[in-house]
Amino acid sequence: MSVVGHFINGEHVLKGEPTQDVYNPATGEVTKQVELGGQKTVEEAIAAAEAAYPAWRNMPAMKRARIMFRYKELLEENAHRICELITDEHGKVLNDAMGELQRGIEVVEYACGAPEFLKGEHSKNVGPAIDSWSEFQPLGVVAGITPFNFPAMVPMWMYPMAAVCGNTVVMKPSERDPSAPLLLMELLSEAGMPEGVVNMVNGGKEAVDTLLNDERVKAVSFVGSTPIAEYIYSTGNANGKRVQALGGAKNHAIVMPDADLDNAVNALMGAAYGSCGERCMAISVAVAVGDEVADELVAKLKAQLEVLKVGRGTDNSNDMGPLITKDAYNRVKGYVDAGEAAGADLVVDGRTLTVEGCENGYFLGGTLFDKVTTDMTIYTDEIFGPVLCVVRAKSMQEAMQMINDHEYGNGTCIFTRDGEAARYFADNILVGMVGINVPLPVPVAYHSFGGWKRSLFGDLHAYGPDAVRFYTKRKTITQRWPSGGIRESAQFTFPSNG
Ligand code: NAD
Repeated sequence: MSVVGHFINGEHVLKGEPTQDVYNPATGEVTKQVELGGQKTVEEAIAAAEAAYPAWRNMPAMKRARIMFRYKELLEENAHRICELITDEHGKVLNDAMGELQRGIEVVEYACGAPEFLKGEHSKNVGPAIDSWSEFQPLGVVAGITPFNFPAMVPMWMYPMAAVCGNTVVMKPSERDPSAPLLLMELLSEAGMPEGVVNMVNGGKEAVDTLLNDERVKAVSFVGSTPIAEYIYSTGNANGKRVQALGGAKNHAIVMPDADLDNAVNALMGAAYGSCGERCMAISVAVAVGDEVADELVAKLKAQLEVLKVGRGTDNSNDMGPLITKDAYNRVKGYVDAGEAAGADLVVDGRTLTVEGCENGYFLGGTLFDKVTTDMTIYTDEIFGPVLCVVRAKSMQEAMQMINDHEYGNGTCIFTRDGEAARYFADNILVGMVGINVPLPVPVAYHSFGGWKRSLFGDLHAYGPDAVRFYTKRKTITQRWPSGGIRESAQFTFPSNG
């Protein structure tokens, strides 16, 4: 059986370390193994990145960007191969994998603008014959640690921007779907990336802890669940590193009485059940304002769930595939059990679903609860599965208060035809990414991605302009070249233009 190892110094290497099974979630079969890198392997990757740093940092930004241009073309040429690997190990439908990859490619396209966004700032004559400029210097070796649910896109939020800014990189993707990230590394080498600039180590906690504790690593970008994000942030900070750690979510959509309900229902179906609900921007709570809209909303969602096509991700006619692992299946099913026991109205029960020919796959059908209350675990916790909870509110204020009181603040959306209400919502909601009749307001590559509250630890968001700030240090240089024989006498007052 083939084993996925690590990508160090421009080549795929195996170290003979312990392995973990990689599954096809549609069938439950073990298809590969992944090697779990220990401290020594991670240190080797850090050393490779450190050795590559001086030459890479001094390479003209335009030349670094050209590698990204070639990389973009190779990613497009190999899109189908990459997405097949995503579907085989994650389970999501191929077309959905294509969407994820395309969003990653858009970050690479943005990274091609490095010469422009690294230009810095310049001021002439800030004092007599004195000029001053700020430049954005790379940090050194940086690390990226990523989750299973976007095995291509989320790593691509990190290493293209980190590298074009002049850093060298060690990535640690999810051990649950490691094949697509490995192919991404191989294509990067093919695009001309010098050896050691971007490395990848597979592994679990030991690999992550090595990255967090090694003083050669100057910054860590993390995306994953909130408890781990908090751990990464506090440990990385305590070790003097710059850290951005994006965590979990519970994204609410408010459905106002004046909303175009059919549009809202279509949008909610895709946002709640697409990728089997395993998206950090998935809508998992619909807050209906008023009983009338709630009744109609639930009836329309129920009708659509009855025709939701669940099956293998390799068949593009399916709407959603399986959950990632047996553990994930049991955890999500446990939440459905708990919601039912707590007295929520289980309108559509996905637990009874079987997919013919895939009896050992991790399939759970689309599930819908109504009359969910804010004390239930199906409301408070991130379920990360195909479960949509409808909560009934009496007013928009009550709905907004619910969102503002929730521990997470990643994404949210309002469905309405009322511009004044939408504007008020966007202005006052305590969430980082807001949609107005847009259910998945994932910012495009030239903006930046990040939530509020316990959905993000750190100050700067992922990719876009914030990534330039995260992956560089500002240095401000002030210079004077005295001319015409002018010599200043000693000045004991603070220099100013006063
Ligand atoms: P996870 O937190 O279990 O794992 C993320 C990464 O951390 C993986 O690389 C994993 O190997 C590593 N890790 C796991 N346990 C660790 C430990 N004890 N110590 C050190 N490292 C550890 O997350 P997941 O299950 O892979 O992904 C799903 C989660 O990611 C969800 O909570 C989802 O909301 C979140 N997510 C957030 C965003 C965002 O942008 N905010 C995007 C995608 C996913």
